[in-house]
Amino acid sequence: MTDSMQYDYFGAYGGRYVGETLRPALDRLAAEFEEAWSDPLFHRELLKIRTTWIGRPTPLLFAENATRALGGARIYVKMEGLAHTGAHKINNAVGQALLAKRMGKRKVIAETGAGQHGLASAAAAAKFGMGCRVYMGEIDMARQRPNVFAMEMMGTEVTAVKSGARTLKDAINAALREWASAFPDTHYIIGSALGPSPFPEIARRFQSVVGDETRAQMREIGGEISALIACVGGGSNAIGFFSPFIGESRPRLIGVEAGGRGTGPGDNAVRMSGHAARVGVAHGYKSRFLMDNDGQLLPSHSISAGLDYPGVGPQLASLGESGRIEFVSAGDGEALAALRFFARHEGVMFALESAHAGAAAMRLAPTMKSSESIVVNMSGRGDKDLFITAKALDRDNWIGFLRREVDNG
Ligand SMILES: *Cc1c(COP(=O)(O)O)cnc(C)c1O
Repeated sequence: MTDSMQYDYFGAYGGRYVGETLRPALDRLAAEFEEAWSDPLFHRELLKIRTTWIGRPTPLLFAENATRALGGARIYVKMEGLAHTGAHKINNAVGQALLAKRMGKRKVIAETGAGQHGLASAAAAAKFGMGCRVYMGEIDMARQRPNVFAMEMMGTEVTAVKSGARTLKDAINAALREWASAFPDTHYIIGSALGPSPFPEIARRFQSVVGDETRAQMREIGGEISALIACVGGGSNAIGFFSPFIGESRPRLIGVEAGGRGTGPGDNAVRMSGHAARVGVAHGYKSRFLMDNDGQLLPSHSISAGLDYPGVGPQLASLGESGRIEFVSAGDGEALAALRFFARHEGVMFALESAHAGAAAMRLAPTMKSSESIVVNMSGRGDKDLFITAKALDRDNWIGFLRREVDNG
């Protein structure tokens, strides 16, 4: 609650690159958010829904077997994937839905790629009795049928976006466009720490619960943290996890991007740890993007849909440039190996996104002393990825299962 206002720019990045119609909506949102944030009643409501519905605090696991197998630093896992709907996305969705309700909005809209943010928004809207529409690229809808089904179960209308490449970046554009005409009674819950100001700051504050809990849980066991590791798509789980430590010189903060299937254009989503990204403007903010000379966003790839975004949140871009946050990448194969490793040794299945952070921890731990500790944020659990991981790791059995399901259906 003592956060200073960090609106507009984070170093050279951020800002508000939108048409005139959206400016009043963003100004009003910024003012209402600050008012809510300084109201103890708002925090009481937030705490209640976090404890009774999201399932907070999420546990901090000492990954003792993994630590022994790797040799080196002690590895802890923040089990954010145990939050309701399976990932950290719910922290932001619930916070913003609560804010929308306080602002008198009757409806929320959201964009989604793989469906995790759409699912979190759909659940929050159902819980708070609000209408919900989720914009989703037509291609993503076809690929992510289970999440479309779950959102519709919760009363959300999922709208297919048929423009551009028909994926996440087009869904964000569609949602921003819709919001510009509907904001008097509608709030747009953006799914990561990005977009026009004040969205990156709002997402950071609602996600900072992850870092705050981690700090308190490590204090309780008397451990000092040497390094925090989180995967980076748009950057919301990372910025929330790192948030309480940003103003201090320690611990090391490490963001892990999707190295995908290689270093070629279109094969990864490396925006910070390589040289392919350029400074530009998209989705209402300035940051580092995979884009061409004309400012068109380029295709990107990751085995994990949540890391497959061509930009990165403005605060992370700034902290990467200042050196406070180190960026590395892990490829599709490394993520699958990490998924397997933590499943075997800890009985925990990471989401594919989070497995990238796990892979970086596996590289780092053996180079560190046994007196040091690493905390990995498991931003999501792996159930949602079954259709991808089972196909990658147990292909014949899985395809056989799907065939029989179709034949018997
Ligand atoms: C969406 C998602 C991510 C990536 O989003 P960030 O905003 O970078 O956190 C990471 N992990 C999981 C499980 C996700 O669902």
